[in-house]
Amino acid sequence: MDEYLYKTALLILIIAFLFVRGPFVMKSRKKESKVMKSSATDRLQVGLSTLGMMVFPVIFCLSPYFEGFMMNLPDALRVAGIIIYAASLVLMFLVLRELGGDWSMNLELKEGHSLVVSGPYRYVCHPMYTAFLLMMVGQFLIVSNWFVGIFGIASFGLLCIMRIPNEERMMEEEFGDEYRVYSERTKRLIPFLI
Ligand code: SAH
Repeated sequence: MDEYLYKTALLILIIAFLFVRGPFVMKSRKKESKVMKSSATDRLQVGLSTLGMMVFPVIFCLSPYFEGFMMNLPDALRVAGIIIYAASLVLMFLVLRELGGDWSMNLELKEGHSLVVSGPYRYVCHPMYTAFLLMMVGQFLIVSNWFVGIFGIASFGLLCIMRIPNEERMMEEEFGDEYRVYSERTKRLIPFLI
């Protein structure tokens, strides 16, 4: 398939991502913040992940700047990447539908924040991060470019490793035993595995 078609597919998927997430970002912004735990490191990692999932892929799609890093992935894998990315958007929607406005890009709790343990949260404690990781794997396959691909996976992987323990501590401080019991009996990112 033509390189141009992969770039168009990725741009459409990125725009679809913004449409899926946009209404829930608005809902979350409308709610008052109660607890804010984001450190400078956490904000830096959110910035790096934004580079990895939005800025670099968009530059890749619209310019020849990253051409020197191209790999030769077969078409079948690149098409599989489109399917994986699209599937991650479905998961992202299911997650956000459960959370409503009770979430934020940072480590934050809202006024009247309720603990969600239903929908995708029945299977893993961090399904939104699962969706992002899937999305970054899909992106890697679509772009077939080691710089854009690895930066996306690594920046988000690092955010997960650094943030999950702090997020769980924050949730446990707020919801006590209810969260502790839930997180003890539920996997983190992949059902039945980790
Ligand atoms: N780690 C979760 C949520 C990511 S968004 C996931 O991957 O699905 C981060 C925010 O979501 C946190 O700051 C917290 O406000 C909120 N949050 C995390 N787990 C939650 C849960 N089980 N119920 C309600 N809110 C949650």
